[in-house]
Amino acid sequence: MRNIDRIYIDGAFVTPHGSARFDLFNPATEDRIGSVRLGDAEDVRLAVAAAKRAFPAMARTSKAERIAMLHRLRDAVKARAGDLIAAMTEGYGAPAYFTGFSVQNTASVFDVMATSVENYAFERVAGSSAVTMLPLGVVGAITPWNSNFGFIATKLAHAIGSGSTIVIKPAEQSAIQTQVLLECLHEAKLPKGVLNVVNGTGPEVGAALTTHPDVALISFTGSTPAARIVQRAALETMKRLVLELGGKSPTIILDDADLDAAIPIALMSGFANSGQACVAGSRILIPRSRREEILARLKDETERLRIGNPADPEVRIGPLANAAHWERVQGWIRLGQEEGAMLLTGGEGRPEGLDHGWFARPTIFTEVAGTMRIAREEIFGPVLSVITYDDEAEAVAIANDSDFGLQAYVLSSDEPRALRVARQLMAGRVVINGAPHDPHAPFGGFRQSGLGREIGAYGLDAFLEPRAILTPAA
Ligand code: NAD
Repeated sequence: MRNIDRIYIDGAFVTPHGSARFDLFNPATEDRIGSVRLGDAEDVRLAVAAAKRAFPAMARTSKAERIAMLHRLRDAVKARAGDLIAAMTEGYGAPAYFTGFSVQNTASVFDVMATSVENYAFERVAGSSAVTMLPLGVVGAITPWNSNFGFIATKLAHAIGSGSTIVIKPAEQSAIQTQVLLECLHEAKLPKGVLNVVNGTGPEVGAALTTHPDVALISFTGSTPAARIVQRAALETMKRLVLELGGKSPTIILDDADLDAAIPIALMSGFANSGQACVAGSRILIPRSRREEILARLKDETERLRIGNPADPEVRIGPLANAAHWERVQGWIRLGQEEGAMLLTGGEGRPEGLDHGWFARPTIFTEVAGTMRIAREEIFGPVLSVITYDDEAEAVAIANDSDFGLQAYVLSSDEPRALRVARQLMAGRVVINGAPHDPHAPFGGFRQSGLGREIGAYGLDAFLEPRAILTPAA
């Protein structure tokens, strides 16, 4: 049983002012595994005050000092990789193939930021003026449960790289992950007040952060509906915003695709992290000319995916994060049928042989019209929609016909052709033929998938403000 009773303010683990508790569960077993004591608005006030005190010194740090901090953070995270993986598996049932990647990526965001700082031009010239890229001040960051420690690290890396200080409100249900990560980060011995973390709910701690007059920028990762509330709250004090939100990403299987390679990639993208991934390829676009063959392969390979204990490296689908989310996903599966889509595989209820744990059946709908809610809204579970197209132009049109634009996937045996299609897609990232993750590529979305970008110079730009100094001509 893990009871998390401390938050992190001004370089120390402290007891929060807030006293409410939130229970934590293992979704694979439904067992209660601990609880977290939640902070409140007073804790946010103290954390922001600490970050504000630390800001002037942090803003003056040199590139070399920031890079040294980033390297210490990287090393501190690597030292506890096993504990972080265990916390993620137990805390929301993320499958082992995904947790391994997440920990590696968490350490690498510090490295990537160190390289970006090295190469970034903080001092520039525009016309005859000297331009300096200045840190904004105190950053408020909010993270989602599906990638909690990864985004704590990403947002902290951007704060350090830009010379800002930060107050983070992690996802409350990820408190064990947050605690393990904080123990790592504490070992990196950042100057006091540079990093502050307040556990708490969105409506209380999140709202206190997004309305605080001393917070200059909100870096939020989560759902599009919550981001609308954040954006409204931030409006009053003109906070800068970086919003990394949901998606309904298309996977276009072109008619020349090698299905031996394409089908596993399409399913891996669609069911990534049991479908609980912002970048999940949840719309699979298939050519009418190969429809029957592709549907047969999708059905067969989905039914062979191993579902169960997320710690098992062979498992591809783990449980959903919590009971309420399981119910929500069941509702989507019912809705798809009511809307007139047909079940190719899956459906409501638990997978065969799993009578407890919040496991859902990997589900694929066919006969999906682009107007149906299952084709337009983010489900965030293992539920995919197959949409048939007649030609390449129609595939591109369907892919772009979305309120979202986070990621897209193109599968083809002809790479120049895939590239031609990719260039027509309106998404923050387009992945061709299952290309591996590029930790240096900008990350973020078009349309309602977000605002701004993270990673590299793009990420630093969003955390900085240009100041031009104009002098009389000599
Ligand atoms: P969520 O929007 O419910 O919560 C995200 C965070 O926002 C949590 O910490 C929550 O407590 C907080 N929050 C909720 N209401 C708030 C409010 N009124 N004010 C301030 N903070 C508030 O999302 P979730 O269920 O935790 O995560 C899943 C969502 O996150 C999905 O939509 C997914 O696509 C998205 N996501 C996006 C990315 C990305 O980089 N684009 C990455 C991971 C997840």
